Amino acid sequence: MIYYGTMYDHKIRFSAVKMNEVVEEARKRHSLSYLASVVLGRALVGAALVSPWLGEREVWTIFIEGDGPIRKVVAQSRSDFSVRGYVGNPKVELPLNERGKFDVSGAVGKGTLRVVRDLGLRTPFVSQVPLKSGEIAEDIAYYFLVSEQIPSAFLIGVLMGAEGVRVAGGIAVQILDRSVEEEKVLRIERNIKTLPQVTELFQESDPLEILERVFGEPVGFVETGIVRFRCDCNREKAKEAILVLDLGEIEEMKREGKGEVTCVWCNTKYEISPEELSELIDLKKNHLGL
Ligand SMILES: [Zn+2]
Repeated sequence: MIYYGTMYDHKIRFSAVKMNEVVEEARKRHSLSYLASVVLGRALVGAALVSPWLGEREVWTIFIEGDGPIRKVVAQSRSDFSVRGYVGNPKVELPLNERGKFDVSGAVGKGTLRVVRDLGLRTPFVSQVPLKSGEIAEDIAYYFLVSEQIPSAFLIGVLMGAEGVRVAGGIAVQILDRSVEEEKVLRIERNIKTLPQVTELFQESDPLEILERVFGEPVGFVETGIVRFRCDCNREKAKEAILVLDLGEIEEMKREGKGEVTCVWCNTKYEISPEELSELIDLKKNHLGL
């Protein structure tokens, strides 16, 4: 469930989400290691936190590319609060860091964070910043500050248990209008600093209680939504992906008896029959004027 709204005459906006099942679904779909679950989970929570602020048709995608062993983390959200995502290396494992935590920044490494905002217009809006820490929440906040001039706080936590994802949640606060009273901003900053770890917070409190602790007062009118892992891939799109290949490659697939297309976002496998491959070969030949 995601909660969102504004405070102080819309000068500050906030969102808070608890999405244990969504991150667990991502873990199962991609057969993620514990560490990969935490990394992708954080990125998915970050994408979900932004979803209430998107335009109606907007698709918001975050690409984190670093020199660490996970190589790549991609998460996407839409204004209906649906999310999806994947990582470059789902099996990544590293020793716990010096604080006894999953080494997220070690898995990510040094690199860049790129946000693509596709508003359904001809050219998507693309902006890139260097990674600040590789811990993801801080990196997303840094992106908003540098690329969109929106001072932000993102608090994101994913806790794993032996059985899978135990806790996945986060909160985001953004200053939209800097004429907001400084004392209010300082109070929020102070409150955030004194909070326990995010995963602890989400174990003991619900998102509304956490928001109240952040603002130091009840947040008033709050809207809600349901966050889901959702992918819009289908058989037709899988066939289109084959059509992009060279004619020789498609013919090779047919000789081997089957084509298989796996959706990178959700790991669904589409088996394309030899008959369908023949149709695709004919189509391809037509395109090529053969
Ligand atoms: Zn898919």
